Amino acid sequence: MSGENYPLSRRRFLRTLTLGACTLPFARAAANVGADFGLHPDTPGAKLASLPVAVPASMGSPFHSAAIGTPHLALTFDDGPHGKLTPKLLDLLGRRGVKSTFYVIGRNVEAYPDIARRIVAEGHEIANHTWTHPQLSRLSASRVADELRRTHDKVLEVTGVRMTNLRPPYGAFNDSVRRVAFERHGYDTIMWSVDPLDWKYRNSSRVTRELVKGAAPGAVLLCHDIHPSTIAAVPPTLDQLLGRGFRFVTVAELMAMDKSGRQDLNLRPPGPKPGALPS
Ligand SMILES: [Zn+2]
Repeated sequence: MSGENYPLSRRRFLRTLTLGACTLPFARAAANVGADFGLHPDTPGAKLASLPVAVPASMGSPFHSAAIGTPHLALTFDDGPHGKLTPKLLDLLGRRGVKSTFYVIGRNVEAYPDIARRIVAEGHEIANHTWTHPQLSRLSASRVADELRRTHDKVLEVTGVRMTNLRPPYGAFNDSVRRVAFERHGYDTIMWSVDPLDWKYRNSSRVTRELVKGAAPGAVLLCHDIHPSTIAAVPPTLDQLLGRGFRFVTVAELMAMDKSGRQDLNLRPPGPKPGALPS
């Protein structure tokens, strides 16, 4: 997704820069950071906009899915905590005994510390999704470090948890971002293997259908707990997947179960399909 794709053709590189320039300013206008900007986290070209830097071999590859033989998968929620929707989601998960991973935005944790504490108290994983939801691949290393550190420290202060992984906003990272995340905090960079585009299609039936269709052993499902339609999709999604024998674990647990040395199973290609980019 990042360093793996070099060298880029010049045309693709220019298209990449254009895409990022067109879409990003809107993302900063959101009130609940990360919410309702009408753009998707994954702007595939944008993550390629920086030149590669060397990364330590111990850092591993970005994680998309696990190669496992058991029916475990990870359900993930980005961009919260949301004052109303995240508590509702926690009720739905708790009722079914399902553990998820929450990629929280630091500013939202500051606004809703009780909800962050509840996420942790109920056995879910909490992980870093930056302080202001910027496109990290376009920031200097020091600004990247600041985005990660502020959120890391706030979550530690509020919940006592030292987070272990990062999901970069828009799925946008480069080797410099990964290096900062790894060297400062020991973070793994986490992507996903199933994207129902819940930010774009605010239709709970569609979200459920896409999640159920994409579910497979080792999959990482991407959702956002800032849209009512996503929350409405959760009960039927969980009930169908539990009924098929799937079991939900956190991302950290799924990574620990991975027997592949972080090889992507190619359950489905990560990120949006062609034509799924915001216009
Ligand atoms: Zn996000």
